Amino acid sequence: MATSIASGSGLLHLRETVYRGQGCKRAYFVSSIGIPKCIQKDLSWSHGVPKILRIHTSNRFQSLTNKSRHGHSRTAIISCLRDGSTKYFDFAVIGSGVAGLRYALEVAKHGTVAVITKAEPHESNTNYAQGGVSAVLCPSDSVESHMLDTIVAGAYLCDEETVRVVCTEGPERIRELIAMGASFDHGEDGNLHLAREGGHSHRRIVHAADMTGKEIERALLEAVRKDPNIFVFEHHFAIDLLTSQDGSGTVCHGVDTLNTDTQEVVRFISKITLLASGGAGHIYPITTNPPVATGDGVAMAHRAQAIISNMEFVQFHPTALADESLPIRPTKARENAFLITEAVRGDGGILYNLDMERFMPSYDERAELAPRDVVARSIDDQLKKRNEKARAS
Ligand SMILES: Cc1cc2nc3c(=O)[nH]c(=O)nc-3n(C[C@H](O)[C@H](O)[C@H](O)COP(=O)(O)OP(=O)(O)OC[C@H]3O[C@@H](n4cnc5c(N)ncnc54)[C@H](O)[C@@H]3O)c2cc1C
Repeated sequence: MATSIASGSGLLHLRETVYRGQGCKRAYFVSSIGIPKCIQKDLSWSHGVPKILRIHTSNRFQSLTNKSRHGHSRTAIISCLRDGSTKYFDFAVIGSGVAGLRYALEVAKHGTVAVITKAEPHESNTNYAQGGVSAVLCPSDSVESHMLDTIVAGAYLCDEETVRVVCTEGPERIRELIAMGASFDHGEDGNLHLAREGGHSHRRIVHAADMTGKEIERALLEAVRKDPNIFVFEHHFAIDLLTSQDGSGTVCHGVDTLNTDTQEVVRFISKITLLASGGAGHIYPITTNPPVATGDGVAMAHRAQAIISNMEFVQFHPTALADESLPIRPTKARENAFLITEAVRGDGGILYNLDMERFMPSYDERAELAPRDVVARSIDDQLKKRNEKARAS
């Protein structure tokens, strides 16, 4: 029996927060770890991080330094700047999945960027995406058809403008990834091979075998590493956003992180802070998400009083491998369930219950090609009716 699995990324609208002015000392810090309130520092903080040295010459930091040379705040500044644990960037991006890396590459055209990530840079849901990315690339397909399929699969609850942007710009984003060096599968005719998945009326899934996410993450990380304006801080666990109140609004000045290699708290001060920390699949007992998906960004945003919406939308992968039914069981328990990708159903895979009865046609006329939420609910219904449990390990 297939199982219902939490796959993670709910649709969250976390607003970008803006650093305004130089009034750092007004900041109200919500960090649960005690940190000195003085956040300006001299120019020694970047020792050991050579790429960052160039940032010292930026006008903003020059003016801070000049001001401190004459101002009464100098003593306080010096006293809290020796540990080298505060870093200044134009942009702080929390997360190194597709969202964070793509954003970093874009804004690096306008300033310095810190990409902060809590594990190895590639560790993300993105890295484990299998089936592929849908985009209108076949001449007989159309953006309108892709939009309609998306809206129907979204039970008419989608934000139509977002659907329009995603479906219209999708092909260009794919071409962009290819230009960056991502390699996707091609058919015998030399064109991109397009697979089909549930909810889609056309073949439109661009893929790299069944490890599409790994290839996208590889290409993005390579582009990021080549960009002189982007600095990746791995094993830096974002703890909390640095905020202050400005009238009725909350202003974000950056983020406090824990360097999990050195156990040091490292503060990032930024004009713009982007939360791209992915989903929360690991709040469920069984999930296809990697262990990094623990919803930290949502929690940080909540503590910083950001507006969080659409939390009721959690994507469930309907099918995963139930290790306990395998003839040879893995020697080590998995950290997460191994996804049986939807592309298997797209290619004709059929779902049966333990009595080998095909059940999807009795739930939806699209049968196994119904959207994910319909398939997941049908499986759940079967499990409950048959008094069986979801199993994945
Ligand atoms: C098994 C699987 C298969 C999938 N298959 C597909 C598919 O075929 N097609 C498709 O379109 N989608 C697929 N998805 C969904 C897709 O992978 C995600 O929607 C997408 O990758 C999310 O990207 P993201 O950048 O928002 O988050 P992620 O890729 O999850 O990146 C989040 C980043 O934030 C970091 N982070 C989290 N908390 C902190 C913290 N406190 N401090 C610092 N860093 C932090 C993480 O380490 C990670 O680097 C799949 C997902 C899974 C799990």
